[in-house]
Amino acid sequence: MSHKYSQKPEKCPECGSENILNIVYGYPDDGLDKKAQEGRVILGGCCITGDDPKWQCAKCEADFYRIKKEL
Ligand SMILES: [Zn+2]
Repeated sequence: MSHKYSQKPEKCPECGSENILNIVYGYPDDGLDKKAQEGRVILGGCCITGDDPKWQCAKCEADFYRIKKEL
């Protein structure tokens, strides 16, 4: 089951953790690498499918998608 939000959720609906991290796509530079090691962001990798989660729970790794705006 995927979770969809219009903005970053404050709490994980699966485990209740408030530690929700941004997933950053693309090749990480040094600064981003450091943030990932510190557990402040999730690295999503370079492959973008167009249907990738935007945030992830740091505790249970549940993925959260951003609701796409209707055109
Ligand atoms: Zn969670």
